[in-house]
Formats: sequence, structure tokens, C-alpha cells
Amino acid sequence: MALARTNALIIQSKRFRETSLLIVYYTLNFGRIDAIAKGVVGTRKTPVFHLFPSYVELFLYKKGNALSLVSSSELLDAFPKLHQDLRKLSSALYILELVKETIKESEENSSLFWLLLESFKLLENAKDDASTELILITFQLKFLKLLGYGPFLDNCVVCQEKIGENLPELKFSAKAGGILCRKCSQEDRDSLVINYPLVALMNYLLNLKPSLLARLKVPLNLRKELTKYIEYFRDYHLPLEQKSLESLKLIRGC
Ligand SMILES: [Zn+2]
Repeated sequence: MALARTNALIIQSKRFRETSLLIVYYTLNFGRIDAIAKGVVGTRKTPVFHLFPSYVELFLYKKGNALSLVSSSELLDAFPKLHQDLRKLSSALYILELVKETIKESEENSSLFWLLLESFKLLENAKDDASTELILITFQLKFLKLLGYGPFLDNCVVCQEKIGENLPELKFSAKAGGILCRKCSQEDRDSLVINYPLVALMNYLLNLKPSLLARLKVPLNLRKELTKYIEYFRDYHLPLEQKSLESLKLIRGC
């Protein structure tokens, strides 16, 4: 079994038997990896394995579908400011829970890796609660899009009519994966009414370079609206168990 090296984010870490930890990583090269770190509990190395989220360089023996074995790990970023702020930390834990419950297979997706790392760095440096909330909104949009669910916002997802200010009575459909024009809105009776400026804002965030997000200000009422539409879209596409949804709500309630 060959030793593999990769950069990784710790998604979760918990006690496994007496002195070991079971760690869920999201890695740059292999996607999700569940691995055992043997005999590390109670040693000076424990914090390197037990802190999540954190960014590490990881050496491991990879074992197909079985649990992999950690050889060693070097801490690259512990996101200290993120761990000192309850709202930042609860947002990060929400992201981790979403990833852990949604991504089960070990398959490389470097775009998702960089999205996660950039989001944690943004949370680490967020200046206030409004920025933290906007980072979470943008993460969810980009995450859903990366997984292939959409939302697709440039054209009506049924007839491909270009979406613009001139089109009245737009609907937002989770089932169809994006915006429906008035003609096509009967395709999904559960779709939500949405106005064009909100579609445009959602589209802007979806395509925004993460580094530019720190400077952006979005008023509270628009952040609330965006969250409502994104949660409706997420609940349709991500088959989270009731238990996970409850814990997400608890985390978000902080
Ligand atoms: Zn249409």
C-alpha cells in the first residue's frame, strides 16, 4: 500500500476506540476520505487531528472504500479567528455538516476543495455578522451549482428565453433547477414567485470571485430573501435526513 500526500480540510473528528480518532477529510486529490489516526489521543499531536475545520497537509495510506490510515499530518491553517467567534464557527460547522451529509463518495473535485478552503478563509477574516451571513449564502449557491443542481439563472430553464427586467412574473423552481418564465411557470406548481433584481443579485453572487466578496454589502432584507430561496432549493435537492436538518437548524440558531 503506497503512501499518498495531499492537502486536506478536516470535516469532522471523533474518538475511535481507546486512543484513536476517526477523521473525515475533504482532500484536494481524492475528495472525501474517512481515515483512522491510530494512537494519537492523549499525545501532543491530538490538536492537529482534532480541530475542525482546519487545513492540513496529510500523508495517508489510502484503502479504496475501506477506512484509510493516517500516517502523519501537518497543520497549515487552524483558522484561529473563526474558532473564536460563535457566529463564524456556527457558519463553518453548518458548511461542514452539509458537505459531510451530501458528499459520501471518494471522488476528486478540486473546485469543491478550493470553494471550501476559500469560504473558511473568508469566514476567518469576515468583519461583521452581515459579511458572515453573505459568505454562507454565496457558499451554498456555489456548492449547489458545483454539484450540478443549479440554480440556472440566465435563461428560463424550460424554453431558454433570456431572463431580464422585461420579463414579468418570474418563478424560482427547485424541481426545474432555476428560473421559469410566465409561459412555463405551470411546469412546477410549487415554484416560488421571485423578482428580477433578486435573480440578478443571486446570479452576481454565483459568479463572483470569492476574493471580491469581502468588500460587498447586501442589506439585511435581501440577505433574508436570498436565504429563503436557497433553503427551499437546498431542501429539494439535498436528501438530508431529518436528524441532520435538526442539527443544521441548531447550528444556524447560534
Ligand atoms: Zn419559459
